[in-house]
Amino acid sequence: MTSSTPAGSPTGAARGVDDELPVIGHHIGGEIITAAERHSPVRNPATGRETGRLALADAEQVRAAVVVATEAQKAWRRTGLARRTQIMFRARQILDERRAELAATITAEHGKVLSDADGEITRGLENVDFCTGLMHHLKGEYAEQVSTGVDVHQVRQPLGVVACITPFNFPVMVPLWMVTTAIAAGNAVILKPSERDPSASLLIAQAFRDAGLPDGILNVVHGDKEAVDELLVHPEVSAVSFVGSTPIAKHIYATSAAHGKRVQALGGAKNHMVVMPDADLDSAADAAVSAAYGSAGERCMAISVVVAVGDVADGLVERIRSRAQRLSIGDGADPASEMGPLITPEALERVTGYVAGAAAEGATVVLDGREQTFDGEGYFIGASLIDHVTPGMKVYDDEIFGPVLSVVRVDSYDAAVDLINASRYANGTAVFTRDGKTAREFEFDIEVGMVGVNVPIPVPVGAFSFGGWKDSLFGDTHMYGPEAFNFYTRRKVVSSRWPEPSESQISLGFPTH
Ligand code: NAD
Repeated sequence: MTSSTPAGSPTGAARGVDDELPVIGHHIGGEIITAAERHSPVRNPATGRETGRLALADAEQVRAAVVVATEAQKAWRRTGLARRTQIMFRARQILDERRAELAATITAEHGKVLSDADGEITRGLENVDFCTGLMHHLKGEYAEQVSTGVDVHQVRQPLGVVACITPFNFPVMVPLWMVTTAIAAGNAVILKPSERDPSASLLIAQAFRDAGLPDGILNVVHGDKEAVDELLVHPEVSAVSFVGSTPIAKHIYATSAAHGKRVQALGGAKNHMVVMPDADLDSAADAAVSAAYGSAGERCMAISVVVAVGDVADGLVERIRSRAQRLSIGDGADPASEMGPLITPEALERVTGYVAGAAAEGATVVLDGREQTFDGEGYFIGASLIDHVTPGMKVYDDEIFGPVLSVVRVDSYDAAVDLINASRYANGTAVFTRDGKTAREFEFDIEVGMVGVNVPIPVPVGAFSFGGWKDSLFGDTHMYGPEAFNFYTRRKVVSSRWPEPSESQISLGFPTH
Protein backbone atom coordinates (compact mmCIF):
# COMPACT_ATOMS: atom_id res chain seq x y z
CA MET A 1 0.00 0.00 0.00
CA THR A 2 1.31 3.44 -0.90
CA SER A 3 1.55 5.56 2.22
CA SER A 4 3.17 8.78 1.02
CA THR A 5 3.91 10.12 -2.46
CA PRO A 6 4.47 13.63 -3.78
CA ALA A 7 1.25 15.22 -4.95
CA GLY A 8 0.83 15.30 -8.71
CA SER A 9 -1.64 12.58 -9.59
CA PRO A 10 -4.84 14.59 -10.00
CA THR A 11 -6.87 13.00 -7.24
CA GLY A 12 -4.00 11.43 -5.38
CA ALA A 13 -5.60 8.04 -5.91
CA ALA A 14 -3.32 5.05 -5.39
CA ARG A 15 -4.04 1.35 -5.81
CA GLY A 16 -5.80 -0.06 -2.77
CA VAL A 17 -4.97 -2.92 -0.42
CA ASP A 18 -6.98 -5.34 -2.50
CA ASP A 19 -5.47 -3.84 -5.67
CA GLU A 20 -8.92 -3.28 -7.12
CA LEU A 21 -10.25 0.06 -5.99
CA PRO A 22 -8.06 3.15 -5.72
CA VAL A 23 -7.44 4.53 -2.26
CA ILE A 24 -8.15 8.25 -2.12
CA GLY A 25 -5.53 9.79 0.14
CA HIS A 26 -4.95 13.03 2.03
CA HIS A 27 -2.96 15.93 0.56
CA ILE A 28 -0.72 17.12 3.39
CA GLY A 29 2.40 19.24 2.98
CA GLY A 30 2.48 18.55 -0.74
CA GLU A 31 2.35 14.77 -0.29
CA ILE A 32 -0.42 12.29 -0.90
CA ILE A 33 -0.81 10.08 2.15
CA THR A 34 -2.90 6.95 1.76
CA ALA A 35 -2.02 5.08 4.96
CA ALA A 36 -5.15 4.60 7.03
CA GLU A 37 -6.65 2.34 9.66
CA ARG A 38 -10.16 3.02 8.41
CA HIS A 39 -11.70 3.66 4.99
CA SER A 40 -15.11 4.62 3.69
CA PRO A 41 -16.50 3.77 0.25
CA VAL A 42 -16.91 6.44 -2.41
CA ARG A 43 -19.68 5.61 -4.88
CA ASN A 44 -21.07 6.88 -8.14
CA PRO A 45 -24.68 7.67 -7.18
CA ALA A 46 -25.87 7.13 -10.75
CA THR A 47 -24.77 3.48 -10.75
CA GLY A 48 -24.34 2.64 -7.07
CA ARG A 49 -20.90 1.29 -7.93
CA GLU A 50 -18.01 1.82 -5.53
CA THR A 51 -15.30 3.80 -7.29
CA GLY A 52 -12.77 4.36 -4.54
CA ARG A 53 -11.90 3.80 -0.91
CA LEU A 54 -11.38 6.95 1.09
CA ALA A 55 -8.62 7.02 3.71
CA LEU A 56 -10.12 8.33 6.96
CA ALA A 57 -7.72 10.25 9.18
CA ASP A 58 -7.52 9.44 12.86
CA ALA A 59 -6.83 12.09 15.51
CA GLU A 60 -3.08 11.49 15.34
CA GLN A 61 -2.99 12.10 11.58
CA VAL A 62 -4.99 15.29 12.07
CA ARG A 63 -2.48 16.48 14.66
CA ALA A 64 0.38 15.69 12.26
CA ALA A 65 -1.33 17.75 9.54
CA VAL A 66 -1.75 20.68 11.93
CA VAL A 67 1.99 20.57 12.70
CA VAL A 68 2.75 20.77 8.96
CA ALA A 69 0.30 23.64 8.49
CA THR A 70 1.59 25.54 11.51
CA GLU A 71 5.18 25.41 10.24
CA ALA A 72 4.24 26.38 6.69
CA GLN A 73 2.12 29.31 7.82
CA LYS A 74 5.08 31.02 9.50
CA ALA A 75 6.69 31.64 6.11
CA TRP A 76 3.39 32.22 4.29
CA ARG A 77 2.39 35.13 6.51
CA ARG A 78 5.69 36.79 5.53
CA THR A 79 5.07 36.22 1.82
CA GLY A 80 4.40 39.51 0.03
CA LEU A 81 0.89 40.41 -1.01
CA ALA A 82 2.01 40.83 -4.62
CA ARG A 83 3.24 37.23 -4.67
CA ARG A 84 0.03 35.98 -3.08
CA THR A 85 -1.94 37.90 -5.72
CA GLN A 86 0.02 36.22 -8.52
CA ILE A 87 -0.77 32.80 -7.05
CA MET A 88 -4.48 33.66 -6.95
CA PHE A 89 -4.44 34.71 -10.61
CA ARG A 90 -2.60 31.53 -11.61
CA ALA A 91 -4.86 29.30 -9.52
CA ARG A 92 -7.87 30.91 -11.17
CA GLN A 93 -6.48 30.19 -14.61
CA ILE A 94 -5.53 26.59 -13.79
CA LEU A 95 -8.89 25.80 -12.21
CA ASP A 96 -10.62 27.26 -15.25
CA GLU A 97 -8.44 25.22 -17.62
CA ARG A 98 -9.23 22.05 -15.63
CA ARG A 99 -12.93 22.82 -15.49
CA ALA A 100 -13.97 19.75 -17.53
CA GLU A 101 -12.04 17.39 -15.25
CA LEU A 102 -13.42 19.11 -12.16
CA ALA A 103 -16.99 18.91 -13.45
CA ALA A 104 -16.61 15.24 -14.39
CA THR A 105 -15.25 14.51 -10.89
CA ILE A 106 -18.17 16.31 -9.25
CA THR A 107 -20.69 14.42 -11.38
CA ALA A 108 -19.03 11.03 -10.82
CA GLU A 109 -19.12 11.35 -7.02
CA HIS A 110 -22.05 13.71 -6.37
CA GLY A 111 -24.37 12.78 -9.24
CA LYS A 112 -25.47 16.28 -10.32
CA VAL A 113 -25.63 16.89 -14.07
CA LEU A 114 -22.50 18.17 -15.81
CA SER A 115 -23.95 21.59 -16.64
CA ASP A 116 -24.84 22.06 -12.97
CA ALA A 117 -21.34 20.97 -11.93
CA ASP A 118 -19.92 23.49 -14.38
CA GLY A 119 -22.15 26.21 -12.90
CA GLU A 120 -20.91 25.42 -9.41
CA ILE A 121 -17.32 25.80 -10.63
CA THR A 122 -18.15 29.21 -12.13
CA ARG A 123 -19.73 30.37 -8.87
CA GLY A 124 -16.75 29.02 -6.91
CA LEU A 125 -14.29 30.87 -9.14
CA GLU A 126 -15.99 34.15 -8.21
CA ASN A 127 -14.28 33.74 -4.85
CA VAL A 128 -10.87 33.41 -6.46
CA ASP A 129 -11.71 36.49 -8.55
CA PHE A 130 -12.49 38.43 -5.39
CA CYS A 131 -9.27 37.26 -3.74
CA THR A 132 -7.12 38.47 -6.65
CA GLY A 133 -7.87 41.87 -5.09
CA LEU A 134 -6.46 40.70 -1.76
CA MET A 135 -4.14 43.69 -1.44
CA HIS A 136 -7.14 45.99 -1.44
CA HIS A 137 -9.10 43.77 0.96
CA LEU A 138 -6.21 43.56 3.42
CA LYS A 139 -5.52 47.31 3.42
CA GLY A 140 -5.63 48.74 6.90
CA GLU A 141 -6.73 52.14 8.19
CA TYR A 142 -4.80 55.20 9.31
CA ALA A 143 -5.69 58.31 11.28
CA GLU A 144 -3.11 61.04 11.50
CA GLN A 145 -2.80 63.32 14.54
CA VAL A 146 -5.47 61.67 16.72
CA SER A 147 -3.77 63.59 19.51
CA THR A 148 -0.87 65.97 19.36
CA GLY A 149 1.93 64.08 17.63
CA VAL A 150 0.07 60.76 17.85
CA ASP A 151 -1.00 58.68 14.84
CA VAL A 152 -3.06 55.48 14.85
CA HIS A 153 -3.18 52.72 12.27
CA GLN A 154 -4.89 49.38 12.05
CA VAL A 155 -3.51 46.30 10.28
CA ARG A 156 -5.06 42.94 9.51
CA GLN A 157 -3.04 39.89 10.42
CA PRO A 158 -3.78 36.21 9.73
CA LEU A 159 -5.09 33.89 12.43
CA GLY A 160 -2.69 30.98 11.81
CA VAL A 161 -4.21 27.58 10.98
CA VAL A 162 -7.89 27.43 10.11
CA ALA A 163 -10.13 24.40 9.59
CA CYS A 164 -12.64 24.32 6.73
CA ILE A 165 -15.26 21.57 6.97
CA THR A 166 -17.52 21.19 3.95
CA PRO A 167 -20.73 19.36 2.92
CA PHE A 168 -21.32 16.96 0.04
CA ASN A 169 -23.62 19.12 -2.02
CA PHE A 170 -21.10 21.60 -3.47
CA PRO A 171 -17.75 19.78 -3.55
CA VAL A 172 -15.99 22.62 -5.42
CA MET A 173 -17.93 25.80 -4.65
CA VAL A 174 -18.08 25.55 -0.87
CA PRO A 175 -14.37 24.66 -0.43
CA LEU A 176 -13.59 27.67 -2.66
CA TRP A 177 -15.89 29.87 -0.51
CA MET A 178 -13.54 29.20 2.37
CA VAL A 179 -10.01 28.34 1.34
CA THR A 180 -9.44 31.20 -1.11
CA THR A 181 -9.90 33.97 1.45
CA ALA A 182 -8.24 32.03 4.26
CA ILE A 183 -5.12 31.58 2.13
CA ALA A 184 -5.21 35.09 0.65
CA ALA A 185 -5.25 36.49 4.18
CA GLY A 186 -2.08 34.59 5.09
CA ASN A 187 -3.45 31.55 6.92
CA ALA A 188 -2.76 27.86 6.42
CA VAL A 189 -5.80 25.63 5.87
CA ILE A 190 -6.88 22.14 6.82
CA LEU A 191 -9.76 21.37 4.46
CA LYS A 192 -11.94 18.45 5.58
CA PRO A 193 -14.30 17.75 2.67
CA SER A 194 -17.35 15.52 2.73
CA GLU A 195 -16.46 11.85 2.68
CA ARG A 196 -19.18 11.28 0.04
CA ASP A 197 -17.42 13.24 -2.76
CA PRO A 198 -13.86 13.99 -1.61
CA SER A 199 -11.88 13.97 -4.88
CA ALA A 200 -12.70 17.50 -6.08
CA SER A 201 -10.96 18.96 -3.02
CA LEU A 202 -7.78 17.18 -4.03
CA LEU A 203 -8.02 18.71 -7.50
CA ILE A 204 -8.38 22.15 -5.92
CA ALA A 205 -5.33 21.58 -3.71
CA GLN A 206 -3.33 20.37 -6.72
CA ALA A 207 -4.36 23.45 -8.75
CA PHE A 208 -3.18 25.81 -6.00
CA ARG A 209 0.07 23.83 -5.69
CA ASP A 210 0.64 24.10 -9.45
CA ALA A 211 -0.08 27.82 -9.16
CA GLY A 212 2.87 28.17 -6.77
CA LEU A 213 1.20 27.93 -3.37
CA PRO A 214 3.83 26.59 -0.96
CA ASP A 215 3.30 23.08 0.38
CA GLY A 216 1.55 22.92 3.72
CA ILE A 217 -0.69 25.97 3.16
CA LEU A 218 -3.66 24.11 1.68
CA ASN A 219 -3.95 20.62 3.16
CA VAL A 220 -6.80 18.22 2.51
CA VAL A 221 -7.50 15.79 5.33
CA HIS A 222 -10.27 13.25 4.80
CA GLY A 223 -12.28 11.88 7.65
CA ASP A 224 -15.45 11.67 9.61
CA LYS A 225 -16.44 12.70 13.14
CA GLU A 226 -13.10 11.59 14.61
CA ALA A 227 -11.09 13.91 12.36
CA VAL A 228 -13.55 16.79 12.67
CA ASP A 229 -13.70 16.61 16.45
CA GLU A 230 -9.91 16.73 16.70
CA LEU A 231 -9.88 19.91 14.60
CA LEU A 232 -12.49 21.49 16.89
CA VAL A 233 -10.40 21.02 20.04
CA HIS A 234 -6.85 21.34 18.69
CA PRO A 235 -5.13 24.33 20.35
CA GLU A 236 -3.27 25.32 17.15
CA VAL A 237 -6.47 25.60 15.09
CA SER A 238 -7.55 29.22 15.46
CA ALA A 239 -10.80 29.24 13.52
CA VAL A 240 -13.38 26.88 12.10
CA SER A 241 -15.51 27.46 9.00
CA PHE A 242 -18.29 24.92 8.57
CA VAL A 243 -21.14 24.35 6.13
CA GLY A 244 -23.50 21.41 6.60
CA SER A 245 -26.67 20.33 8.35
CA THR A 246 -28.09 22.22 11.33
CA PRO A 247 -27.53 19.54 14.03
CA ILE A 248 -23.85 19.22 13.07
CA ALA A 249 -23.51 23.01 12.71
CA LYS A 250 -24.70 23.40 16.30
CA HIS A 251 -22.15 20.83 17.49
CA ILE A 252 -19.36 22.55 15.53
CA TYR A 253 -20.32 25.97 16.87
CA ALA A 254 -20.62 24.91 20.52
CA THR A 255 -17.46 22.79 20.59
CA SER A 256 -15.29 25.27 18.70
CA ALA A 257 -16.46 28.20 20.83
CA ALA A 258 -15.90 26.21 24.01
CA HIS A 259 -12.30 25.75 22.87
CA GLY A 260 -11.76 29.44 22.25
CA LYS A 261 -11.98 29.42 18.48
CA ARG A 262 -13.51 31.84 16.07
CA VAL A 263 -16.33 29.94 14.33
CA GLN A 264 -18.87 30.34 11.55
CA ALA A 265 -21.18 27.33 11.14
CA LEU A 266 -23.76 27.43 8.36
CA GLY A 267 -26.63 24.98 8.71
CA GLY A 268 -29.65 23.68 6.85
CA ALA A 269 -32.52 25.47 5.16
CA LYS A 270 -36.15 25.47 4.13
CA ASN A 271 -36.52 28.17 1.52
CA HIS A 272 -39.91 29.67 0.61
CA MET A 273 -40.88 31.29 -2.66
CA VAL A 274 -43.88 33.60 -2.42
CA VAL A 275 -45.99 33.98 -5.55
CA MET A 276 -48.19 37.07 -5.40
CA PRO A 277 -51.50 37.34 -7.31
CA ASP A 278 -49.96 39.82 -9.78
CA ALA A 279 -47.02 37.55 -10.68
CA ASP A 280 -46.60 36.10 -14.15
CA LEU A 281 -47.52 32.47 -13.45
CA ASP A 282 -45.55 30.90 -16.29
CA SER A 283 -42.36 32.68 -15.19
CA ALA A 284 -43.03 31.76 -11.56
CA ALA A 285 -43.61 28.10 -12.48
CA ASP A 286 -40.38 28.00 -14.52
CA ALA A 287 -38.49 29.49 -11.57
CA ALA A 288 -40.06 27.13 -9.03
CA VAL A 289 -39.27 24.02 -11.08
CA SER A 290 -35.68 25.15 -11.71
CA ALA A 291 -35.04 26.04 -8.07
CA ALA A 292 -36.82 23.06 -6.52
CA TYR A 293 -35.58 20.20 -8.68
CA GLY A 294 -32.17 21.45 -9.88
CA SER A 295 -29.41 19.29 -8.38
CA ALA A 296 -32.24 16.95 -7.22
CA GLY A 297 -33.13 19.52 -4.55
CA GLU A 298 -29.79 19.00 -2.83
CA ARG A 299 -28.99 22.71 -2.60
CA CYS A 300 -29.07 24.73 0.59
CA MET A 301 -30.73 27.49 -1.46
CA ALA A 302 -33.20 25.19 -3.23
CA ILE A 303 -36.81 26.31 -3.10
CA SER A 304 -38.65 23.67 -1.09
CA VAL A 305 -41.90 25.56 -0.39
CA VAL A 306 -44.00 27.63 -2.77
CA VAL A 307 -46.32 30.00 -0.92
CA ALA A 308 -49.27 30.68 -3.22
CA VAL A 309 -51.04 33.91 -2.27
CA GLY A 310 -54.74 34.39 -3.03
CA ASP A 311 -56.22 32.77 -6.09
CA VAL A 312 -52.96 31.87 -7.90
CA ALA A 313 -52.72 28.39 -6.34
CA ASP A 314 -54.67 26.21 -8.79
CA GLY A 315 -53.10 27.72 -11.90
CA LEU A 316 -49.63 27.67 -10.39
CA VAL A 317 -49.80 24.08 -9.16
CA GLU A 318 -50.95 22.88 -12.57
CA ARG A 319 -48.16 24.77 -14.32
CA ILE A 320 -45.52 23.34 -11.95
CA ARG A 321 -46.91 19.81 -12.25
CA SER A 322 -46.91 19.79 -16.05
CA ARG A 323 -43.31 21.08 -16.15
CA ALA A 324 -41.97 18.81 -13.38
CA GLN A 325 -43.36 15.61 -14.83
CA ARG A 326 -41.51 16.27 -18.09
CA LEU A 327 -38.07 16.56 -16.46
CA SER A 328 -35.46 14.26 -17.90
CA ILE A 329 -33.89 12.35 -15.01
CA GLY A 330 -30.82 10.16 -15.43
CA ASP A 331 -27.06 9.82 -15.08
CA GLY A 332 -25.59 13.31 -14.63
CA ALA A 333 -22.85 12.45 -17.13
CA ASP A 334 -25.49 12.10 -19.87
CA PRO A 335 -25.96 15.56 -21.47
CA ALA A 336 -29.67 14.76 -21.93
CA SER A 337 -30.24 14.57 -18.16
CA GLU A 338 -31.67 17.60 -16.38
CA MET A 339 -31.68 16.03 -12.91
CA GLY A 340 -29.43 13.34 -11.46
CA PRO A 341 -29.71 10.89 -8.56
CA LEU A 342 -29.60 11.52 -4.83
CA ILE A 343 -26.28 11.16 -3.03
CA THR A 344 -26.77 7.88 -1.10
CA PRO A 345 -29.27 5.03 -0.62
CA GLU A 346 -30.00 6.51 2.82
CA ALA A 347 -30.92 9.86 1.24
CA LEU A 348 -33.18 8.04 -1.23
CA GLU A 349 -34.90 6.19 1.60
CA ARG A 350 -35.37 9.39 3.61
CA VAL A 351 -36.85 11.34 0.68
CA THR A 352 -39.10 8.40 -0.24
CA GLY A 353 -40.35 8.33 3.35
CA TYR A 354 -41.38 12.01 3.29
CA VAL A 355 -43.36 11.57 0.07
CA ALA A 356 -44.97 8.40 1.42
CA GLY A 357 -45.98 10.14 4.64
CA ALA A 358 -47.39 13.31 3.06
CA ALA A 359 -50.84 11.95 2.16
CA ALA A 360 -51.28 10.44 5.63
CA GLU A 361 -50.54 13.89 7.09
CA GLY A 362 -53.41 15.38 5.06
CA ALA A 363 -51.49 16.84 2.12
CA THR A 364 -52.32 16.18 -1.55
CA VAL A 365 -49.62 14.40 -3.53
CA VAL A 366 -50.00 15.97 -6.98
CA LEU A 367 -46.90 14.35 -8.46
CA ASP A 368 -45.39 11.28 -6.81
CA GLY A 369 -41.70 10.82 -7.64
CA ARG A 370 -41.80 7.25 -6.35
CA GLU A 371 -43.95 6.24 -9.31
CA GLN A 372 -41.15 6.90 -11.78
CA THR A 373 -38.97 3.83 -12.30
CA PHE A 374 -35.31 3.71 -13.23
CA ASP A 375 -33.06 0.93 -14.51
CA GLY A 376 -29.93 -0.01 -12.60
CA GLU A 377 -28.77 0.51 -9.05
CA GLY A 378 -28.57 4.32 -8.98
CA TYR A 379 -30.23 6.36 -6.23
CA PHE A 380 -32.91 7.91 -8.44
CA ILE A 381 -36.34 9.24 -7.62
CA GLY A 382 -38.68 11.38 -9.73
CA ALA A 383 -39.81 14.89 -8.90
CA SER A 384 -42.60 15.19 -6.31
CA LEU A 385 -45.11 18.01 -5.87
CA ILE A 386 -47.22 18.15 -2.72
CA ASP A 387 -50.13 20.57 -2.36
CA HIS A 388 -52.18 21.76 0.65
CA VAL A 389 -49.16 21.47 2.94
CA THR A 390 -49.35 23.20 6.33
CA PRO A 391 -46.91 23.83 9.18
CA GLY A 392 -46.87 20.91 11.57
CA MET A 393 -46.60 18.36 8.76
CA LYS A 394 -43.18 16.70 8.63
CA VAL A 395 -42.96 17.43 4.93
CA TYR A 396 -43.15 21.14 5.83
CA ASP A 397 -41.19 21.26 9.08
CA ASP A 398 -38.13 19.20 8.09
CA GLU A 399 -35.40 19.91 5.61
CA ILE A 400 -35.96 17.08 3.10
CA PHE A 401 -33.00 17.86 0.81
CA GLY A 402 -34.47 16.11 -2.20
CA PRO A 403 -36.67 16.82 -5.25
CA VAL A 404 -39.84 17.44 -3.25
CA LEU A 405 -41.68 20.76 -3.60
CA SER A 406 -44.46 21.65 -1.15
CA VAL A 407 -47.18 24.20 -1.82
CA VAL A 408 -48.71 26.17 1.06
CA ARG A 409 -51.83 28.19 0.21
CA VAL A 410 -52.37 31.47 2.06
CA ASP A 411 -54.93 34.28 1.73
CA SER A 412 -52.71 37.33 1.93
CA TYR A 413 -49.24 38.83 1.74
CA ASP A 414 -49.24 39.22 5.54
CA ALA A 415 -50.00 35.52 6.03
CA ALA A 416 -47.10 34.64 3.69
CA VAL A 417 -44.69 36.81 5.66
CA ASP A 418 -45.92 35.40 9.01
CA LEU A 419 -45.47 31.85 7.73
CA ILE A 420 -41.88 32.44 6.62
CA ASN A 421 -40.93 34.42 9.72
CA ALA A 422 -42.16 31.56 11.93
CA SER A 423 -39.75 29.08 10.31
CA ARG A 424 -36.70 28.02 12.30
CA TYR A 425 -34.65 28.18 9.12
CA ALA A 426 -33.85 31.49 7.45
CA ASN A 427 -31.32 30.90 4.69
CA GLY A 428 -32.96 32.20 1.52
CA THR A 429 -36.37 33.29 0.26
CA ALA A 430 -37.90 34.89 -2.81
CA VAL A 431 -40.93 36.89 -3.83
CA PHE A 432 -42.43 36.82 -7.31
CA THR A 433 -44.44 39.95 -8.10
CA ARG A 434 -44.76 42.70 -10.70
CA ASP A 435 -45.30 45.31 -7.98
CA GLY A 436 -42.35 47.30 -6.68
CA LYS A 437 -44.07 48.30 -3.45
CA THR A 438 -44.79 44.67 -2.51
CA ALA A 439 -41.21 43.72 -3.29
CA ARG A 440 -39.87 46.56 -1.18
CA GLU A 441 -42.11 45.65 1.75
CA PHE A 442 -41.08 42.00 1.50
CA GLU A 443 -37.42 42.96 1.63
CA PHE A 444 -38.14 45.05 4.74
CA ASP A 445 -40.43 42.59 6.55
CA ILE A 446 -38.84 39.23 5.96
CA GLU A 447 -36.53 37.70 8.58
CA VAL A 448 -34.24 35.79 6.24
CA GLY A 449 -30.57 36.31 5.40
CA MET A 450 -30.75 36.25 1.59
CA VAL A 451 -33.73 37.56 -0.39
CA GLY A 452 -34.60 37.30 -4.07
CA VAL A 453 -36.99 39.60 -5.89
CA ASN A 454 -38.07 37.55 -8.91
CA VAL A 455 -34.78 35.65 -8.35
CA PRO A 456 -35.48 32.16 -6.98
CA ILE A 457 -31.96 31.27 -5.78
CA PRO A 458 -30.45 34.51 -4.49
CA VAL A 459 -26.89 33.32 -3.82
CA PRO A 460 -24.93 36.59 -3.57
CA VAL A 461 -22.10 37.19 -6.06
CA GLY A 462 -18.55 36.92 -4.77
CA ALA A 463 -18.21 40.62 -3.91
CA PHE A 464 -20.96 40.27 -1.28
CA SER A 465 -21.12 37.68 1.49
CA PHE A 466 -23.33 34.61 1.95
CA GLY A 467 -25.23 33.66 5.08
CA GLY A 468 -28.62 32.92 6.53
CA TRP A 469 -30.20 33.78 9.88
CA LYS A 470 -31.61 31.72 12.76
CA ASP A 471 -30.87 27.96 12.54
CA SER A 472 -29.22 28.45 9.15
CA LEU A 473 -26.12 30.12 10.61
CA PHE A 474 -24.41 29.91 13.98
CA GLY A 475 -21.86 32.66 14.50
CA ASP A 476 -21.65 36.28 13.39
CA THR A 477 -19.80 36.25 10.12
CA HIS A 478 -21.08 35.27 6.70
CA MET A 479 -19.07 33.28 4.16
CA TYR A 480 -16.79 34.70 1.43
CA GLY A 481 -16.59 38.27 0.17
CA PRO A 482 -15.78 41.18 2.51
CA GLU A 483 -16.99 39.40 5.66
CA ALA A 484 -14.57 36.53 5.02
CA PHE A 485 -11.61 38.92 5.17
CA ASN A 486 -12.89 39.96 8.60
CA PHE A 487 -13.31 36.34 9.68
CA TYR A 488 -9.86 35.20 8.59
CA THR A 489 -7.91 38.18 10.01
CA ARG A 490 -7.31 39.75 13.40
CA ARG A 491 -7.20 43.51 13.55
CA LYS A 492 -4.30 45.10 15.39
CA VAL A 493 -4.40 48.79 16.25
CA VAL A 494 -1.11 50.64 16.69
CA SER A 495 -0.83 54.08 18.36
CA SER A 496 2.52 55.77 17.80
CA ARG A 497 4.32 58.99 18.66
CA TRP A 498 7.87 60.23 18.14
CA PRO A 499 8.43 62.71 21.00
CA GLU A 500 11.50 64.83 21.63
CA PRO A 501 13.35 63.20 24.56
CA SER A 502 13.75 66.66 26.08
CA GLU A 503 9.93 66.98 26.37
CA SER A 504 9.51 63.67 28.23
CA GLN A 505 7.78 63.80 31.62
CA ILE A 506 5.96 61.49 34.06
CA SER A 507 2.17 61.65 34.06
CA LEU A 508 0.10 59.11 36.00
CA GLY A 509 -3.24 60.33 34.60
CA PHE A 510 -5.09 58.27 31.99
CA PRO A 511 -3.90 59.45 28.55
CA THR A 512 -6.53 61.61 26.83
CA HIS A 513 -5.08 64.00 24.30
P1 NAD B 1 -23.45 17.08 7.15
O1 NAD B 1 -23.77 17.99 8.26
O2 NAD B 1 -23.86 15.66 7.26
O3 NAD B 1 -21.87 17.05 6.89
C1 NAD B 1 -21.11 18.23 6.73
C2 NAD B 1 -19.69 17.96 7.18
O4 NAD B 1 -19.69 17.62 8.56
C3 NAD B 1 -19.01 16.82 6.43
O5 NAD B 1 -17.67 17.18 6.16
C4 NAD B 1 -19.07 15.67 7.43
O6 NAD B 1 -17.99 14.78 7.31
C5 NAD B 1 -19.05 16.36 8.78
N1 NAD B 1 -19.80 15.64 9.80
C6 NAD B 1 -20.91 14.87 9.60
N2 NAD B 1 -21.34 14.37 10.78
C7 NAD B 1 -20.49 14.82 11.74
C8 NAD B 1 -20.43 14.67 13.16
N3 NAD B 1 -21.32 13.93 13.82
N4 NAD B 1 -19.45 15.30 13.83
C9 NAD B 1 -18.54 16.05 13.18
N5 NAD B 1 -18.55 16.23 11.82
C10 NAD B 1 -19.52 15.64 11.11
O7 NAD B 1 -24.05 17.75 5.82
P2 NAD B 1 -24.14 17.13 4.37
O8 NAD B 1 -25.18 16.07 4.35
O9 NAD B 1 -22.80 16.83 3.84
O10 NAD B 1 -24.68 18.40 3.56
C11 NAD B 1 -26.04 18.74 3.44
C12 NAD B 1 -26.45 19.76 4.48
O11 NAD B 1 -25.64 20.93 4.34
C13 NAD B 1 -27.88 20.25 4.30
O12 NAD B 1 -28.47 20.37 5.56
C14 NAD B 1 -27.71 21.61 3.63
O13 NAD B 1 -28.78 22.50 3.84
C15 NAD B 1 -26.48 22.09 4.29
N6 NAD B 1 -25.84 23.12 3.51
C16 NAD B 1 -25.96 24.40 3.97
C17 NAD B 1 -25.41 25.44 3.25
C18 NAD B 1 -25.53 26.85 3.72
O14 NAD B 1 -24.93 27.70 3.12
N7 NAD B 1 -26.25 27.15 4.78
C19 NAD B 1 -24.71 25.18 2.06
C20 NAD B 1 -24.60 23.86 1.63
C21 NAD B 1 -25.18 22.84 2.37
